Amino acid sequence: MTDERLGTVAALLEEKGSQQYGLDAVTQLQHALQAATLAEADGGGHALIAAALLHDIGHMVHDLGENPAGGGIDDRHEEVGQRWLARWFGPAVTEPVRMHVAAKRFLCATEPDYFARLSPDSVRSLGLQGGPMSADEAAAFRATPHADAAVRLRRYDEGAKRPDAQTPPVAHFLPYVARSLAS
Ligand code: FE
Repeated sequence: MTDERLGTVAALLEEKGSQQYGLDAVTQLQHALQAATLAEADGGGHALIAAALLHDIGHMVHDLGENPAGGGIDDRHEEVGQRWLARWFGPAVTEPVRMHVAAKRFLCATEPDYFARLSPDSVRSLGLQGGPMSADEAAAFRATPHADAAVRLRRYDEGAKRPDAQTPPVAHFLPYVARSLAS
């Protein structure tokens, strides 16, 4: 039961994944695999694991280069990724992806020590993305469906920037992606 869509996802990760992840010392592929590994270890369901693996796919389907934030550009990769994924996946995958940047702005507003744990590149993009949320924005975010999943995904994202981390290969995570595909 192979599905062309799985092959497309895997090929995109393998081909575009060699690009550096912003200014961090990991590639896009390492970052995706580390995020998915953290989601799996955290007991995330198949949709959350798939979302973690695919959360930055928007970086891989645009043409703004490897480090748009360094050039002062917000690539809006979360919306690009959400639109790309929405052809094949339901909201349990696409909504955490769409909201993973907002979740950073949410956590910076609601957890006093969160900002201090951001990587320098993430601090720079935070400014381009609108900075920490206001109290009203944070309340609205919390009330949005899939907000909890988006916050969990954000924590995996932040933890997925370690040059020395070992992960399983893409193939290990494809069954989760397969289960998350819309029929
Ligand atoms: Fe990320």
